Amino acid sequence: MISLLVRTFDTFSKLALATMIGAGLIAGDALAQQAAPTPGSAKAIFGAVTLPTQGPPQSIGFYAKGCLSGAVALPTDGPTWQAMRLSRNRRWGRPEMIGLLERLSRDAAKNDGWPGLLVGDIAQPRGGPMFNGHASHQIGLDADVWLTPMPPRTLTAAERESLPFTSMLAKDKFLTINDRVWTPAHARLLMRAASYPEVERIFVNPAIKKKMCDTWTGDRTNLGKLRPEYGHDSHFHIRIRCPAGSVGCTGQAPVAAGDGCDKSLAWWLGPEPWAKPKPGAKPPAKPREVMVSDLPKACQAVLDAPSVPSARAATFGTKAVAPTAATGALPVSSSGSGSTPPGNIPQQ
Ligand SMILES: [Zn+2]
Repeated sequence: MISLLVRTFDTFSKLALATMIGAGLIAGDALAQQAAPTPGSAKAIFGAVTLPTQGPPQSIGFYAKGCLSGAVALPTDGPTWQAMRLSRNRRWGRPEMIGLLERLSRDAAKNDGWPGLLVGDIAQPRGGPMFNGHASHQIGLDADVWLTPMPPRTLTAAERESLPFTSMLAKDKFLTINDRVWTPAHARLLMRAASYPEVERIFVNPAIKKKMCDTWTGDRTNLGKLRPEYGHDSHFHIRIRCPAGSVGCTGQAPVAAGDGCDKSLAWWLGPEPWAKPKPGAKPPAKPREVMVSDLPKACQAVLDAPSVPSARAATFGTKAVAPTAATGALPVSSSGSGSTPPGNIPQQ
């Protein structure tokens, strides 16, 4: 994955890449061999849990600092979706998130000429930080969807591991859409996803946002929900708000009014984010590893809580499916695609 990322950013300097890592935009440790986990490391502990807790769903903390109890899994196969990269065991989420993905898949197939969704990472069985790939996706309210339509056949488990990502960006141009892969159906899919009231933000590459700004001729009311973010050129990231009544879930302010096709977008496409630090400037400090004790207190209780029976987990979801070759065991793996900002990248 990282080689893909590096290739995507071929035209940028290594320094810019380092800046992104420092800013938490991509997980820096994805670049290095995984070292032995630090005792108490949240990503090591949450990443090793294979099953969710029993009980009602609860999102605890913030998208990028929290955990999840009572998760359900997106079934590996539905009429209009297939879950990808099953070995990662990251197709768990709040029932509201799983339900939204199923609904989007149906609505897009019916109305938008998008035959079905390939669904990427949602969250780990109990949420929490991941070994690699994402800073958010911790409370079951974030999900990645491929910008590749579902093929008209059931992919094997092996194909779901190896199917390459397709970037929407032209290879040799700075943040420019490749019009040979981008289609009006991509645009309709994004606006369909943005149309649901519970969807607060959708992260897309700045070039995709620009394309939408330049070409979307329909209702632009929800265009502001499409937020520019580096990476996100072969998938988009859906974030839903804390469901009503979820105590302990830390929400985010809704996006500002307007379509977001203004100078805030121009910043992402300009040279400033890629500027070299001034000579002698201190490099950004490497963020300290997140420990379980850094998360909300209730997350330790989530780790200690009993699991659902594993037989039930295999068919978990809002719609149970018969186990297929792709269902099988739910081992934990690691590798993912970049997301989330802070640092010198504005909070989205
Ligand atoms: Zn994501």
